[in-house]
Parts: sequence; structure tokens; C-alpha cells
Amino acid sequence: MSYWLPNSFLPRFIPSHFKFTSKNCRLWSNRSYSKNKNIQVQNMEHVVFDGAQVMVGDPQLLQSKISSIRLEGPSKLQVIADFDATLTKYWIDGQRGHSSHGLLQQGNPEYDLKRQKLYDHYHPLEIDPTIPLDKKAKLMEEWWGKTHALLIEGGLNYDSIKSSVAESRIAFREGVIELFELLEKSNVPVLIFSAGLADIIKEVLRQKLHRSFKNVNIVSNRMVFNQNGDLVSFRGKTIHVLNKNEHAIDMAGPVHEQLGDANRLTTDDASSVKKRTNVLLLGDHIGDLGMSDGLNYNTKISVGFL
Ligand SMILES: [Mg+2]
Repeated sequence: MSYWLPNSFLPRFIPSHFKFTSKNCRLWSNRSYSKNKNIQVQNMEHVVFDGAQVMVGDPQLLQSKISSIRLEGPSKLQVIADFDATLTKYWIDGQRGHSSHGLLQQGNPEYDLKRQKLYDHYHPLEIDPTIPLDKKAKLMEEWWGKTHALLIEGGLNYDSIKSSVAESRIAFREGVIELFELLEKSNVPVLIFSAGLADIIKEVLRQKLHRSFKNVNIVSNRMVFNQNGDLVSFRGKTIHVLNKNEHAIDMAGPVHEQLGDANRLTTDDASSVKKRTNVLLLGDHIGDLGMSDGLNYNTKISVGFL
């Protein structure tokens, strides 16, 4: 069961006194959403909560999930969040915000253009609902592989990442820092699961939030730089939009640990994450729903930002 929120919604907790009733919920017309057969939107209910509009699949079920998560407490909870257009804003001052891939300027215009051409070719395929998921996954793997190869071939220095982030049009949604702070205080881990680039996400967190969070881990594509700060390779298996799932933690954890990455997800973290059986999942892409696959959860609330 999924709950879909509109683009402008702030990630915030619903207070304990809030109850879904016929007064604050009403049936939402789903005709305009039913074209996409991947999304089940029958009998969605429209809730206006604190000025934000939320479409809820089953308000009573949501209420019981919230109660059961509360009852089991923070030690059983984890948050799994996509990064681009989930934690970050989709629109910034009327323009499309940058993604962690899209903001990167290699310092080599020829290769920036080559990567843009790949985007122009593959992005329409990514969002084409008529392509079967297995075929699409292959295309995405192809796209990511070519893009990563261009980053190595065209040259990329870590300084370019810093300057690209500084000049980028990227911003966190309102409430993200407060959410991270609240979760940190309650020792609830946040797993940022992204098909983007971990090194860029880390730099965005550093530059835009101006602090680090001990409870926030990033599972994403990681670059390997030499001592001059030049990109030489990528670590592990490519994570793209359609293979994001918890199995990647098993793969990512030991690899990062072995390489002594300070921001690694350690094996301990990975196993403790598996013991947390209540999940708040945040995403904006159909593939994000798979981020908790492979995890034996009891209760999951999925939130989509439209
Ligand atoms: Mg996204």
C-alpha cells in the first residue's frame, strides 16, 4: 500500500492527536491518474493536512500503521529515502532543480555535452511506461555504465564536484534538516538510497546543510579518486533507478568497509538496519518502492512525492 504526496509537501510527522475521519478526508477523483497502469490508485482519499494535500490509499490502514509503529518505538524504526526530488526540491524558483548527476560539470565541456546527449536519449526511455521493467532495467544499466565511463575518460577532479555543487540549483525541501535532527535525536537511522552519485550527495549535504548526521548513511554509486583527487574508477555494482533495493546494502557494506571509507555503511549497521522492522519509505519514482525489497519488515509506510 502506498501513499502519494504532492511535490510541495514537507516531510513531517503526523501528530498523535491526528485522526483520519470523514471530516478531514474525502474521496479523490483518480481518473487522471489511472493512465499509468503501474500505479494502483483506486479509492484514493484526499487529505488536507496542515495546509498540505495528501492522497491516502486507505486512511484507516494508515492510522493503524502509525499506531503500530508508535507502539514499537524508535528502536524498531528506520527511514529509507531516495535523494533526488525526494529530499531535494523538484522545482526551484520556477525551474527544475538539479539532480546529483545533472549538476555535475566535469570541467570538460565536450564530455559534459556527451553526458547530456546520453540523458536526452535515455531519460525518455526511463519515464516511458510502455517499456517492460526488465528491458528498462537493462537500458538504465547501459546508461549508467556509459555515463560513468565518460566521467573517467573525460577526467573529473574532486574540486570540480565541490564547485559544481556550489554553483548548482539544488535545495533540500523545507523540513528535511528538522526531520534529520529529530531522527538523530531518537537514534533512528536514515538510509539515503540513490541511483545518483554518493560523493556528490555527500558534498550537497556538506554545503547545503552545513553539518553531518551520525544516523545518515548513503548507499549510492561511489567514486574512487587517486591522491591528486582525480577519478579513477567506481566501486562495486552500479546502482540505477530500477535495482535500488536492500540487497545493495549487503553488497555496499563490506565493499565500503574494506576500502576504509569514513562514511561507509558497516556490516553492523547493515545488520542492525535489517533488525528494524518498521519502515518509513520516501521516494518520487516507481523504482523507489523497491528500496525496501529484501527487508523483512512488519510495517511500512510508503510516501511518494509527486
Ligand atoms: Mg528521485
